[in-house]
Order: sequence, then C-alpha cells, then structure tokens
Amino acid sequence: MTPKLIIVIPCYNEETVLPVTLPLFRQQLQRMREEGKIAPDSGLLFVNDGSRDGTWDFIQQAAKQYSDVEGIALSRNRGHQNALLAGLMEAKDKADITISIDCDGQDDLRAMDAMVDAYCDGCDIVYGVRKARNTDTWFKRTSAEGYYKLLRWMGADVVYNHADYRLVSQKALEAFSDFREVNIFLRGMFPLVGFRSTSVYYDRRERLAGESHYPLRKMLALAFDGISSLSIKPIRLITGLGMLLSLFSFLLILWVLISYFTGRSVPGWSSTVLTTALLGGIQLISLGVIGEYIGKIYLETKHRPRYIIAERTEKKRKLRLLETEKPQKSQQAADPMVAKTAESEGENPHDVDE
Ligand code: UDP
Ligand code: MG
Repeated sequence: MTPKLIIVIPCYNEETVLPVTLPLFRQQLQRMREEGKIAPDSGLLFVNDGSRDGTWDFIQQAAKQYSDVEGIALSRNRGHQNALLAGLMEAKDKADITISIDCDGQDDLRAMDAMVDAYCDGCDIVYGVRKARNTDTWFKRTSAEGYYKLLRWMGADVVYNHADYRLVSQKALEAFSDFREVNIFLRGMFPLVGFRSTSVYYDRRERLAGESHYPLRKMLALAFDGISSLSIKPIRLITGLGMLLSLFSFLLILWVLISYFTGRSVPGWSSTVLTTALLGGIQLISLGVIGEYIGKIYLETKHRPRYIIAERTEKKRKLRLLETEKPQKSQQAADPMVAKTAESEGENPHDVDE
C-alpha cells in the first residue's frame, strides 16, 4: 500500500519565499503521487510560527485554493524546533509518514524520493544529510562542523551534517510523542527513539528568497541548548577541572610552605593576584554552566505546553466539524498538547525568540 505523506514546513516571516517555494513543494508532491510512491491524499502542512508579516494570510489563501495544503498557526513565535514539533504532532495521526523541511527551498526536494524509498525498504527514520556545505559562509561551515564534532564528543548521538530534513514514520512519531521534555533539540532526539534508520545525501542550496532567521545569537543559543539537552558532560568536565585545580593548589601550598620555612619567601603580590583571578574566573564559568542546567530543570518542572495552536486553516476546520459533528473546542481540550488560550504561557528565557 502506498503511504500517505504529510510534508511539515515551519515558517516564520517568510512571505517573500513562500510564493516561490509553495509551487515547488506541490510539484514534488504531484510527481511522487503520479509515480505511485505516495497516496493521492498526501499533502503539505505549513506551521506559521507567530509571523508578523503576511505569512499566515498566504497560507490561508493557499489552503483555500489547493486541497492538498493546510496550515496551523501558533499563538506566538516559539522558535523553529517548537514549530516543527507542533506540525509533527498535528500530522502524527493523519499520515503514515511525515517529512519535515524548511520552507526556504535550500534543501533539495528530490531527496524525498530516496527517503520514501528507504521507508518502503523498512526504515522508520530517514535523515537528510548535506553532502557539502559550499553554499554556506566559511564561518557557518566551520562552526557547524566543529559543533557536530563537539556534540559527538559530548556523547550525544547526532547524525553528522543532518539538520531537520527528515522522514519519520507514524510508528516512530508515536514513540517520539512520549518524549515530553520542554527543551527540545529534535535532531538529537530522534536517534534516541531508535528503530531502523538510514541517511539520504543531498546538496544544499542558497535560500531562494528572504533572509536567514539564524543570526549568530540564535545559532549559539541553539548550539548550547543542543548540548545541554542531550549531555551532562559539561558538568562532569567542570568536576574534573575542579579536581585538577585542587591538586594544583595543593602543590602550590606545599611550595609556599617550603619557601616560608626555608626563609626564601618574598612578598609575591603578582602570583597571588594571578591565582585569585584565574580561580575566580573558572569558578564563575563553572557556576554559570551548572546554573544553566538548573535553569533547564526549573523549566522542565513547570510542564508548560511546548506550543499553543491558535488557528487552523478554514477548510480543515469545516471538514473536522463534518467528520465529528462536534465543536472543535472539546477536541482541543482532550488533547494535552493543545491548550485553549495563550494566557498560561509566560516568558520563557530559553525561547529562541524572533
Ligand atoms: N523558523 C521558524 N521559527 C523561527 C525561525 C525560523 O519556524 O523562529 C523556520 C524558518 O521559516 C525556516 C526554518 O525555520 O523554514 C529554518 O530557518 P532559516 O532558513 O532562517 O535558517 P537557516 O537555514 O539559515 O539555518
Ligand atoms: Mg534556511
């Protein structure tokens, strides 16, 4: 049986690029349908991540115009990872497979064919991996590659050069939905789900229009979130460093005592100041790293919703009413992932905000 595919596409302030990429996504779907790779009712699911421009209007228009397009809108900007999660959870019960992809046309859509083939061969998760990074700037390329190596060294199981272009089967998504953490880093979490997986390689292009939403500040935030949500190695490293410094201080004390008793002690102002400054700095950094983890524990204990769906595209809501003959409110209340109002959502210091 041909699987039903939903392509999940997070969008944040993308009014310039969506008119360019929507036809490309639809062409790709159409081609796969015609080749009999996917079911006829496969479609696109756009997630509007609290955009401030005409992105949501565009998605609504497209949903009215094309039967294979639908959209959900989050109540505010929650960052790429949460938007993606919202889309995946929305698609979970409606499709046999989902493919998540950015909306800017950077990732080669043709890789989807190979992904679906791998699914038909029995894989539940298929990672899209970039072949080369020659369209990225030197800085982005070097920092990204260094980062993947660092993550691996920290013990996190990430697929090298894989971002969030990925096929996930319904079975794997169902298992993934039990991962309830608030601090999410999807590319590091899916390998933890297990099941059979493989990689598909593709070339990554430049953005087709608009600008990247990942300036250095957001890149660093995502990078640190990735490490701290997947690994506790930094805390262990600090302990190791602390032990090493304690040993060093102990030797220093011995040296000071020997100098004192042999009468060779000189008022060592510079060495005192240097040691104090060095130790003070290291202590502060260590406290900061540990604080970062405590902050994460604090956020996890609150169990706040990871996203709030504010709206769904018109057509779908009508369909749902027809299907269930029930008002949608009761459906939302039954779903713990979907809260009714935005009131309960406070500021989250770890959000990667706009
Ligand atoms: N995105 C999002 N919420 C955000 C930032 C980005 O949903 O707060 C989406 C964005 O619309 C795009 C994807 O995440 O589809 C990747 O973002 P972008 O292309 O700006 O990042 P880059 O490819 O430069 O790393
Ligand atoms: Mg991009």
